[in-house]
Amino acid sequence: MGRLSTFALACALVAGFAACGRAAEPGPAPGPIRVIGSNGLGCIAGAVELPAEGPGFQEIRSRRSVFWGHPRTIALLELLGQRARMAGLPDLYMNDISMPRGGPIPGHAGHELGLEADIWLDVNPKPVLTLEQRENLDPPSVVRPDGRAVDPAIWTEDHAKLLRLAAMLPDVDRIFVNPAIKQELCQTTTGDRSWLHRIRPWWGHAAHFHIRFRCPVDQPECVQGAPIPPGDGCDATLQWWFDQLALPPKPPSPPRKPPPLPAACRAIMDAPSAPARH
Ligand SMILES: [Zn+2]
Repeated sequence: MGRLSTFALACALVAGFAACGRAAEPGPAPGPIRVIGSNGLGCIAGAVELPAEGPGFQEIRSRRSVFWGHPRTIALLELLGQRARMAGLPDLYMNDISMPRGGPIPGHAGHELGLEADIWLDVNPKPVLTLEQRENLDPPSVVRPDGRAVDPAIWTEDHAKLLRLAAMLPDVDRIFVNPAIKQELCQTTTGDRSWLHRIRPWWGHAAHFHIRFRCPVDQPECVQGAPIPPGDGCDATLQWWFDQLALPPKPPSPPRKPPPLPAACRAIMDAPSAPARH
């Protein structure tokens, strides 16, 4: 049973279902595992859920049902927690992965296939918090307000260590961070710089990073994005992001109706849930 449905059940028993303000959501579509579509438009069957905590990590806002992914994704996130602990880092705060069947999550572009996750850039020592305490945390930005560099009062070598550990995981396609974070890594990384290739600049991502794993090789319906250009990315393509900061802000684009999910996702979205796990 997923933890949202566990919570909903507790609400029904204790406080009355309607008072909880949460609708029961379908669980994952039963296996076999199928990953269909692209990161920005797709779905997954046979997803599994990351535990609320494990060696080296704790989930944040874990009462939402957004911690589902391909079994390989879940295993690699757990491996990252273990490697972070072995490297002397405090628990990682894991955030959104995907919904039980994938598809769009409000506030995210991506996270639709169970192959992507957000992890906070928080390397401060932290106690094990209760699920309730984890509902109202907000990670601090590690980037200066002007966006041109990391904040030296917050950024530490452990942030770089965490990003290196994440980029060195198997099957990583790319990791999105704020351009100021990429710039800092470009300027300070010595020795092996090969992993910088997979660290990509993107707007936001100043308090968390976004990790995307490659399509599993046994998933022909999973659409792999275009490969990253060769090189470490510490070049004019990085400078482009800072040049944009000097331009007047663009007016917001009008809301667009999201395109429909791939036709093969319909059966996955409509499938009865798998029997509850005990
Ligand atoms: Zn993300």
